[in-house]
Amino acid sequence: MNLGLDATYGAFIDNGFVEKSGATTFSAIAPATGAHLADIVHCDTADVDAAVAAATRAFPAWSATSAEERGRLLNRLADALESDLSRHATIDAHDTGRRLYETTFDQMVAIGQYRYFAGAILTFEGTSRPIPNGLFVTKNEPLGVCALVVPWNVPTIMAACKIAPALAAGNTVVIKPDENASLSTMELGKKIAAIFPPGVVNIVPGGGPTTGQALIHHPGVRKLSFTGSTEIGRIIAGAGAEALLPVTLELGGKSPAIVFPDIEDIDAVVDNAAFASMYCNGQSCLAGTRLFLHEAIYDDFIGRLKAQLSRVRIGGPFEEGVTLTCLISEKQGLRVAGYIDQAKREGAKLLHGGERIPVAGCNAGWFFEPTVFEATNTMRIAREEVFGPVLSVIRWNDYETMIAEANDSNYGLASGIYTSNLRNAVETANRLEAGSVWINQYFNLGNGTPFGGYKQSGLGREFSHETLRHYTQIKSIAVATKTPEPFFVG
Ligand code: NAD
Repeated sequence: MNLGLDATYGAFIDNGFVEKSGATTFSAIAPATGAHLADIVHCDTADVDAAVAAATRAFPAWSATSAEERGRLLNRLADALESDLSRHATIDAHDTGRRLYETTFDQMVAIGQYRYFAGAILTFEGTSRPIPNGLFVTKNEPLGVCALVVPWNVPTIMAACKIAPALAAGNTVVIKPDENASLSTMELGKKIAAIFPPGVVNIVPGGGPTTGQALIHHPGVRKLSFTGSTEIGRIIAGAGAEALLPVTLELGGKSPAIVFPDIEDIDAVVDNAAFASMYCNGQSCLAGTRLFLHEAIYDDFIGRLKAQLSRVRIGGPFEEGVTLTCLISEKQGLRVAGYIDQAKREGAKLLHGGERIPVAGCNAGWFFEPTVFEATNTMRIAREEVFGPVLSVIRWNDYETMIAEANDSNYGLASGIYTSNLRNAVETANRLEAGSVWINQYFNLGNGTPFGGYKQSGLGREFSHETLRHYTQIKSIAVATKTPEPFFVG
């Protein structure tokens, strides 16, 4: 397929790509093959200034449009993405190394987000109440220019789940894609230019410590929204604290998936638990990477899990029948290899996999076997986010100890429960310290489901009606219906 990529992408500002001679660029590389896909300008402070200025100019007119009009344009963007779905999915598969099946699913999720917020904004209403002298009404007003900083794992979804609510609520945006996977966001700019007024969406590619820093500290910005590591989340929160800006953070996770001995279809649970930990090659903040497996079914479950993982095919992003592909970069590969070595040194028992493997035709890629360790909850492999296809299994038999261990984590993004007993399910859902609890199907997320973390997994909720609150501020307007009591007496 002709990817239709430009040779070089500059900043996207006021609906056009900026051409600048002498700009520093970096390469968009396909992690599987090492192929050079395009050059991307590393935006400097002047580019960020220009992008924020464009968004600031566009804000008064955009925020004055009706919710219906904003919704109509978001739906047009969804239509445009739908008609070019396979090209965008192919670009993401090249750029991230993930299999085409997954990046195709990403497009559908992203399109769903544009459509969801196009509709949700129509029912995002204020309140009204009688007060002693008259009544008040509230309005949900947009904040202004939103700075959006996103990661590389699911770039199309990341752009959508921030751009859609921000625009629906009447804000304008400047988004910085991740330097490992910027291409689909740069291509999104072309679609935006044909639909939205200039300056409503601006894109500044570049590095985190440079372009990202310039953006989050820009005095013209009124809101920060970030997805990525907890470490950088702290930096973003610090910038928000300094400038007193509202901040949305969607950070890391080390989510527990709990298997009770009463499950009915053990093979279905084995399959779903493997999916929970290894979808996206494990490069997902919501991955269920700590599997709490009950003693009574432990051996049977592990036997079936190993059998299933032995059948998993590993290959390039466009190969048929492949489940796992390569990681985003050498840096991520070395990180995963480091965690595997560390787990062995710490005494975790390797139950399956553990090796990097070569894949024909994809010599640059960091491909790993699906890897399973038997671990304890105190080991680093069970405490830190690996971001690779690595699952830690923890035995349990005492319910209270298991719940305490499941909650003994700095993170609290998601969790899973597998049981056929309703009381177990509800009691455990109530006790888990996590923003999402999925009962009998991990990662069961739809448009409108609030998604976000407890503890160090973040602040705020995305994907849902609630998200619109994070992109607006409330103005309360009181109307007096009688002349007030006089202030001056006598
Ligand atoms: P990261 O947090 O470093 O990067 C995410 C985004 O933040 C990128 O756009 C990056 O350019 C930007 N950024 C980095 N430093 C910045 C700074 N100082 N100021 C402003 N912006 C900055 O993530 P990473 O290095 O790509 O991955 C490291 C680890 O983070 C992964 O191994 C994984 O554990 C975690 N991660 C989590 C998610 C998630 O969805 N929650 C996504 C990617 C990575």
